[in-house]
Amino acid sequence: MIKEHELDKLIICKKCHTLHEKVLIAENEKAFCSECNVLLYHNDSDMLDKMLALVITASISLFVAFQFTVVSINIQGMEKSLTLTSLFMVLAEHKQYIVGIMFLFLIVIFPIVIIFATFLLLFFMKIEKAGYLTKRLLILLAHLKPWSMIDIFFISLLVAMVKLFDIANIELGVAFLAFVLTLMLDILITKSLSFHQLWEIHHQIYGSIDEE
Ligand SMILES: [Zn+2]
Repeated sequence: MIKEHELDKLIICKKCHTLHEKVLIAENEKAFCSECNVLLYHNDSDMLDKMLALVITASISLFVAFQFTVVSINIQGMEKSLTLTSLFMVLAEHKQYIVGIMFLFLIVIFPIVIIFATFLLLFFMKIEKAGYLTKRLLILLAHLKPWSMIDIFFISLLVAMVKLFDIANIELGVAFLAFVLTLMLDILITKSLSFHQLWEIHHQIYGSIDEE
């Protein structure tokens, strides 16, 4: 059995599907496929800054998503604007507790934990402090990574929710767009975060830290 950690050291060429072992390359150097010369990966020295900028943007759009109208619905001539909080109230009123709890985890808890943990990780690595904490965060994020599938989950849940209301005249609010933006940023962050590279940077900054 190949362990997940070892898989992180392997890379498959997108074009010819040759399996390569990742090796340490110098700053701003690029690694190419030995078979077809396609770019495999590069050692991006600005990675921390770029990722930090993405994470900050994502937290702003998540904040907007939580504050503003997600959907406006028109019930018999009465316009009703729903924020995330009121969406939970509506779900509770209709005794949709399971959907409510799933929503709470998928839309609120997971995105906040992932974005906040990523921010802390990048921030402390940037200022080269808190070596032990960043190590724990790296491990936490590696565990949470499979949950990026929640993006697809979330979109299908939203579609289901809109159907659940079964009411005509649904208008999407600012927060809905903010949610979509957050999701896209989240996907981008998860895809571009190279744990292999982060561990290497971590090792360069802090050296080896023993388990406490
Ligand atoms: Zn190739």
